[in-house]
Formats: sequence, C-alpha cells, structure tokens
Amino acid sequence: MLYRKVVLAIADGLGDRPNPILGHKTPLEYASTPNLDRLAAKGITGMMDLIASGIPVGTDMGHLILFGYEPQNYPGRGPIEALGIGMDVRPGDIVFRCNFATVDEHGVVVDRRAGRIREGTDKIADAINGIIVHGVTVYFQPATEHRAVLILRGDGLSDQVSDSDPKAPNDGSPFLRIEPLDLTKEAQKTALVLNSFLLKAHSILKDHSVNAERISQGKLPANFILTRGAGKMTELEPITDKLNIKGCCIAGESTVLGVARMAGFQTVTHSSMTGNMDTNIQLKAKLATESLAENDMILVHLKAPDLQGHDNEPFQKAKAIEMFDEMIGLIEKGIPEDVYLAIAADHSTPCEIGEHTGDPVPVLISGPSIRKDRVTEFNEMDCAYGGLGHLTGNDFVRTLHGFMGRVKKQGN
Ligand SMILES: [Zn+2]
Repeated sequence: MLYRKVVLAIADGLGDRPNPILGHKTPLEYASTPNLDRLAAKGITGMMDLIASGIPVGTDMGHLILFGYEPQNYPGRGPIEALGIGMDVRPGDIVFRCNFATVDEHGVVVDRRAGRIREGTDKIADAINGIIVHGVTVYFQPATEHRAVLILRGDGLSDQVSDSDPKAPNDGSPFLRIEPLDLTKEAQKTALVLNSFLLKAHSILKDHSVNAERISQGKLPANFILTRGAGKMTELEPITDKLNIKGCCIAGESTVLGVARMAGFQTVTHSSMTGNMDTNIQLKAKLATESLAENDMILVHLKAPDLQGHDNEPFQKAKAIEMFDEMIGLIEKGIPEDVYLAIAADHSTPCEIGEHTGDPVPVLISGPSIRKDRVTEFNEMDCAYGGLGHLTGNDFVRTLHGFMGRVKKQGN
C-alpha cells in the first residue's frame, strides 16, 4: 500500500448564501481567492453536508466529523470543553460546563457571569479543585473569562441530572437545586454529590481573598458555580489509533483543540492564534508545513469567517476568507508534491442569518494523481459541478483516508 499524507485546512463557517449587499454573490464568490481557485482548477471539488441535507451542526459536531468520527460518537459539549482546556477526561467522567456567578445571601443569582470576571479565576478554582464529596472526586478548572469546567469522577455516576444554572438573565431567579432526571440510583447519587459540592464551594468562595478584593473594588464576587449540560465521557477509540497514523492539529480555538485531543491528534496552539481577524496565519501555515515531517495528517483551522457570519458582516467575512486564501497559498508553497491539500468547512454561517445553517459547504482535494474536474473556481456555486459530487462529511473524510492508503479493503 502506498501511504500518503494530507493537510486539511478548515475555514470555520465558510459556507454562505448569495447576499444582496455583495451584488448577490456569496462572500466566498466575492472575495479574491487566487490560491483557492488555482487549487480548484488542478484538484477535485464537491459539496458536503456534514451530516445530511438541511441539518445545521455546531463547531464541535462539525469538527468531530472532520476528525473522522461518526455523528453518533458525539460525547456532549462538556467533555469537549474539558479536553479543550487541557483537562484529563476519562471514560465514565461526568462533565459540566460552568459559569462563575454571583449569588446574594438568599441564593438569588445577582449576575450569571460574576461581573464578567477575567482575573483571579485560577486562584478561585484552585480553592475548590480536588475536593472529595461522598467518595467522588471533583475536578474544577477555569476556562476563558467567566467560564469553567467541572468533572465528577467516581463509581456509579450518571449524566441524567438537571442544571443549577437558571439561565434567566439576572431576573431575580435563585440558583436551582440539581435534580435527578431519571429514577436510577446513579442519577440520584450524582445530584446529591453535586448539590453538596456546590454548597461547599459557595462556603469556600464567599470568603476567598480574590473575592474580598473584588468586593473592596466595587466588583461582583465569584461566589457560586452555575452548572449546565451534563455529559458523560464515552469510551472512544482515537482516530489516530484506528488508522494507525500520527496527526497534528493547529488551532486557536479550544473547542477544536478539544476534539483534536479526543481524536488522538497532537495539538499546537499559540497566543497569537486569536480566533479573530488578527490571528497569525503565517505561524499557522509554518507549523502546518513543519509538522508534516512527524505526522500523516494535519488539520489547520481558521475561525474568522464564522465570527463574521455571526456578526452579519459580509464584507468582513470576505476579508476573513481572503486571509484563509493567503494561508492556503503559504501552506501550498511549503508542502512536498506528494502531499494532498484538502479544503473544507465545518458548516455554513450565512451572514443574512447570523447562525449556523444546514446549507452544504464547498470542498476540494488537490494533490498527486487526482481525477481533476472542470471546476476552476472555489465557491458554493461552481463546486456543485465538481467531481466529488454531493457527499456527507463522513464520505469526504473517508475519501481523504482512502487517498492516504488507510481504508481497509472490504471482502477479499
Ligand atoms: Zn459559529
């Protein structure tokens, strides 16, 4: 078998719809993309539905598929967030997304985000990390700004429990007691453990030095943990083990890094990979080409197009796409001729909608001995005529794995 390598570049939220502000072009059609168009001309293109026609997916689900998993392998947002901030997550762990919050003496949530706390969350988290409640160990780590992740590790736990987060926008609602969502003793135990922990955390946090200082400065204290979205980490074989490959992911966004770690990919990130328009595409391209020496599959991610789609900014989205094109040009220059360069997106984020939609996204594969089609421009309209046709995310990724020589023959 001839083994080959792939660099897969992902433009987050790339897909869009013709926009009147752009003369009824999509941002990808409107943008100047000489590198993507050249690759389309010498490669094979197509249109991809991540799961199936019309189904919108989140960045987490989209990347789960692009890393090579089936949609039903989705472990929930909590485990992905935890992996994304570098926590050790094991099968059976119950993982929650959290906010640092402010409650008053009656348990009323004064602010769901503790005055959008940014500093000192590591010290606050340290004070409650590693506490053991009823034989269950609680791991707690801060994420960005007011966000955090909580893991319950122990025997006989369940993810069938409710949230403590009332989610109401600071309207005088109290925090909620965790309730079991089914009749199992596992759900009851999990609710008991988490309720005990949250009260214990409150008693520690209300007198914490970081909070005393915040109060003296007129800021809201982070004296409570609101939990939501319980998820159970499942036993998932890393994709790298399944294919017997080495993989590397270059990204700034923790969600993408989390999925990459789950899939067994080494992760590379840097503070200059901001996830925004000022992100360091030169560094991303350099790392993508350098890491090819040690790896068989490289995923390199750019967040900016998605953010501009959410902000309903078609001109800015076109600019973000031009940045992506520039990054692709740098990568193409840096890779050997026998390496495949593939382009995809995790979903569409049309500017007129400002949210993810189920519109298919354009894809392309360029590289050695490719059955090139007649498409010469990379966009949502032209790629619909491409040689890959209309395929699912699983089909697209399997096609890449096939080019890599990593798909097992069926039959004899
Ligand atoms: Zn998005």
